[in-house]
Amino acid sequence: MNFSSKLLENAVAEFSKLPGVGQKTALRLVLHLLKQDKADVERFSNSVTKLRNDIQHCRTCHNISDFTVCEICASRKRDHVTICVVEDTRDVMAIENTNQYTGVYHVLGGLISPMDGIGPSDLEIDSLVERMKAGEVREVIFALSATMEGDTTIFYLHKRLKEFKINFSTIARGIAFGGELEYVDEITLGRSIATRVPYESSLSK
Ligand SMILES: [Zn+2]
Repeated sequence: MNFSSKLLENAVAEFSKLPGVGQKTALRLVLHLLKQDKADVERFSNSVTKLRNDIQHCRTCHNISDFTVCEICASRKRDHVTICVVEDTRDVMAIENTNQYTGVYHVLGGLISPMDGIGPSDLEIDSLVERMKAGEVREVIFALSATMEGDTTIFYLHKRLKEFKINFSTIARGIAFGGELEYVDEITLGRSIATRVPYESSLSK
């Protein structure tokens, strides 16, 4: 692409680094911004900068949060003996949208994937073990995608956690997940949490 301006070219180059955004789309977005009021564009860029600088990860569950402890972990209305283990914040959002789950979460920050060089130590697994040691947890629900990485991660977690005498369950995985929890509709996801199955029995199927 030949640009008439270096500033334009730089902005397009930045936008095209975003996932799913090619050069053409990046150019369209940048030209769109040029038509906006300067104040609107400033608000846009400030919100991105502020997001990146000020965002925190809850020190308990590692969910993205504005505070050191997220609102879910801090809430007395939540059932703190049940922990739902998920891949990332999108899964927390999807499960919260079902209004069916009253427990707390643990956000791993990814899945074990030897192909991509992601091992257990790259994920928030040690901190999950620490939460178990506190002795209050009674159930861990594995709500990970029905992919090879999801299965591998659950298998590993179960191995690490089974010394703690608690219940392990998985959300019903026979339904069409389309890979990731965020794509499941709320009713299906809500139902699959309500009808979760003990992990040990899911292995024998
Ligand atoms: Zn939290």
